[in-house]
Parts: sequence; C-alpha cells; structure tokens
Amino acid sequence: MEMHSKSEGNGKPPIIWLNVFVFVSTLLIALIAVPWYGFEHGYSSEHWVWLLITFSFCNLSITAGYHRLWSHKAFEANSVLRAIFALGGAFAMQNSALHWSSDHRIHHKHVDNNDKDPYSAKRGFWFSHIGWMIREYSMNPYENYKNCRDLQRDKILMWQHKYYLALMLAMNFGIPIALGLIYNDLLGMILIVGVLRLVLSHHTTFFINSLAHIWGKQTYTDKNTARDNGILAIFTFGEGYHNYHHIFEHDYRNGIQWWQYDPTKWFIKACSWLKLTSNLKVAPPAKVEQARAQMQLKLTKDKVSALPNGQYIASKLQDEFNTLSKQLNEYYALKKELLEKKRCKLQKQYELSLLKLQIEQMKVKLQQQRKEWSQLTAQYA
Ligand SMILES: [Zn+2]
Ligand SMILES: [Zn+2]
Repeated sequence: MEMHSKSEGNGKPPIIWLNVFVFVSTLLIALIAVPWYGFEHGYSSEHWVWLLITFSFCNLSITAGYHRLWSHKAFEANSVLRAIFALGGAFAMQNSALHWSSDHRIHHKHVDNNDKDPYSAKRGFWFSHIGWMIREYSMNPYENYKNCRDLQRDKILMWQHKYYLALMLAMNFGIPIALGLIYNDLLGMILIVGVLRLVLSHHTTFFINSLAHIWGKQTYTDKNTARDNGILAIFTFGEGYHNYHHIFEHDYRNGIQWWQYDPTKWFIKACSWLKLTSNLKVAPPAKVEQARAQMQLKLTKDKVSALPNGQYIASKLQDEFNTLSKQLNEYYALKKELLEKKRCKLQKQYELSLLKLQIEQMKVKLQQQRKEWSQLTAQYA
C-alpha cells in the first residue's frame, strides 16, 4: 500500500484514504459481488485451483520472502527465487519488501512498545490487524530505511522498491485478466483471483500481527505478547508459531517440530535441495529446550507458591531445571565436537568411537532427566 502524508486538524493522525478505499472496496466486493456472481453464473474448478495457486504464491512470498528471508536473514536465496518473491510480494499488495522489512525489524526490536512498535498488539486487535495502516501513525520515519542497510545491497529488492507501484498494478490486473482471457471468464477470474485472493491474502497475513499476539500459548517466553497457535499456523503458512519466532527470529522455521504445520519451512527446505536456497539457520537446540523448560519452571513455581510446602517444591524444581540445563549444554557441546572432528579427516578412528560412546552415555542421562522434568512439572500442572 502507498502511504501519503497530509496533516489533519483533529487529535488523531490523518486517515490514509487510499488504503481505506482499497481495504473497504475489496472487502465489500469479496463479501457481496463474489457470492452474487457465483449464484448467477457459477464458478468452475479452474477458479478455485487458481485461487489456491495465487493465494499460496502471495502468502509464501510474504512469509518466506519478505519475512524470513529479507526481514530476518534466516537463509539465503538465489536471484531467481528472490525475483519470484519480489513479484509475489507486489501481487500481495503489502508495500515493497524494503518498506515491509523496515517496519518488521522495528516490530521485533520494540515489540509491544506502543510508541515504537508500528503494529503493537498492546493497542488492541483492530490496531495491530489493520488500524495501523489506515492512519498516518508514522511510528517508523523510514529515514532512508537505515535499519535495512544490508538489504539495500540486494539489486532485486531495490528494483522492486523502485518500481513497486507499476509491479503491484501489473500483477494485480495482469494475472486475473490473463486468466480471465484464457478461461473465457473475465469477470469471474477478476473476482476470484483478483479480489477474493487479495482479501484472503491480506487478512491471513494481518492475523500474524493481531491474533498471533493475542491467542495461543507462550511456550518459550512471556516477555512479549507473541503466541504459539497451531490453528493459526494453518491460515498463515506456518507463522502461527509466533512465540517461538519472537525469541528465535533468525531460525528459518517457526514450527520447529517435524509435525508442526509450517509449509513455509518445508518450502524453504525443499528449495535448498534444488539449490535455490542455502545457509538455512536454526537456533541452537540446547537454547530452545532451555527456554521452554524455563517457562515451565516459571509457571510451575507460580502454581506451587500457594501450597504449604511450596518453597520446598520450588527449590526442587529449580535444582532439576539446573541439572537439565547443564546436561543439555554438555550433550550438544559433545555433538558439536563430533561434527567438527568428523570434518577434519585426520582424526583417529578410536578417538571418534570414544566420543560417540560418550555422546550415547550422555544421551541416556539426558533422556532420564527430561523424563523426570516432565513428570515433575506435570505433577503440579
Ligand atoms: Zn518476524
Ligand atoms: Zn510479532
């Protein structure tokens, strides 16, 4: 969306009428004209298949491209993929990647700070969902995008920034019209692939700023409002695991368990097999598990504080946590050592075998401690 600046007489920042017009008109068309046309003329399977393709194209360009690649540098992508993300981002009508990343980096740096976070969830659902875009709050002065100096070396990103308006119009009119001509249903394709796709793409992305800071579990930290929510992950291509994301923002994954629904993670990983992406970053596993256990420790301590022997249980919990934390450090340090030794091929075989044995022994100890920890915390849950 484009931002325009003019001052208004009342206390609130001036309304950005262009953004209001785009949001309101597309929503009304999606709610009224789309069902009406379906009722009168019907849609065929091509409409729904292309809706799915273009919706995924837009959202993955935002989640994998704008978010995990550009805002957080969680991996590297070759120029072909970056160009695809640049086009998809323009199609998603969420401003240039440079502008988006600048806002998003401030969101992480000053999360929940009502004076600095551009879409602070502490200002409520409406504000963090869409309200922040319809008035000129100017939380981010965008002074030469100085928090994105690194991105300004990316020629594709700068090309998209320079020609954003033209690209946005070309994608949003060009693709639906082309499909309309191919399938001989111009209005139907404009409604489904043009408007309905845009509205769905907008609001599912906006949910990450609003709902993902309101609804769900604080698995890894309660220092900010971000939440983990598996249901939200379904609509947001995996970005529902937002609590994890806010603490380990440079991880290319948001849902870190293999079963957690995070198509963005799968997409980035699959692209690495095709050599389209590289240098996929993951958070140190010891740190992840420690953060999670730390939250469990805090919650359980709160719960037992009212019990008569609360103090005793709290100190036992703390001891168990310390042991777990220490063993995690040791186990992952050994694994790292093995990897490094394997890399320099001169290592003697018996040294490697000895290290492997040590790791196995440490693993058994750690598994036992993990079990004790989960039993203990479950007991007071
Ligand atoms: Zn982020
Ligand atoms: Zn957030």
